[in-house]
Amino acid sequence: MVESMQETLEVESCIKRYPWLIQMVTSKLFHELCDQHINKKRCYFCCDCMIPPLCDQCYKRNEHKDHTTIQTYRSSYQSGVRKEAISKFMDTCGIHTYSINSFAIIYINQRRENGNNHRHRNNVTRKCQVCEWELDAASSALFCSIECKFRNTLGSQLDELMENSSSEDVEPVKKKRKHIGGKGFHVDLH
Ligand SMILES: [Zn+2]
Ligand SMILES: [Zn+2]
Ligand SMILES: [Zn+2]
Repeated sequence: MVESMQETLEVESCIKRYPWLIQMVTSKLFHELCDQHINKKRCYFCCDCMIPPLCDQCYKRNEHKDHTTIQTYRSSYQSGVRKEAISKFMDTCGIHTYSINSFAIIYINQRRENGNNHRHRNNVTRKCQVCEWELDAASSALFCSIECKFRNTLGSQLDELMENSSSEDVEPVKKKRKHIGGKGFHVDLH
């Protein structure tokens, strides 16, 4: 009990110091296309500006020159950050670490959302304590992602924080995967 109290205080104080952590967890635009640069994906987060994630062209603009930025990586349809980069701002202890191109990566968002196709194995001994996403059995991690670690200590307070975080997309982001016809679909009426 004392321990979890301690942890709550830790999470709360790191969010107070770095409110952009909530914005990062809330963002739905990581690795979506930049609306100013064609074919460029948004894979940088500027901690100082607290604006939607930037593509590399936007990121290189002078205005972000002296800002703290974090690069994001994509794997298994989820965005992650390098553990080394984010550990400067929060305690990543308990969050499962994945390896992408030999970098240690932790995912930003709860993983279960993606997973109706989630495989069920019998020998799973490790699950995220919040969303029950299956983790490697050998892992000692408790959470699949930064979001689940926050949610574990903050509960529904996290939803409030996420709702209040300066919103990038007042209108909900439309999923693009619904395009079934693919490119070149053309109807000629004549
Ligand atoms: Zn851009
Ligand atoms: Zn900036
Ligand atoms: Zn989880």
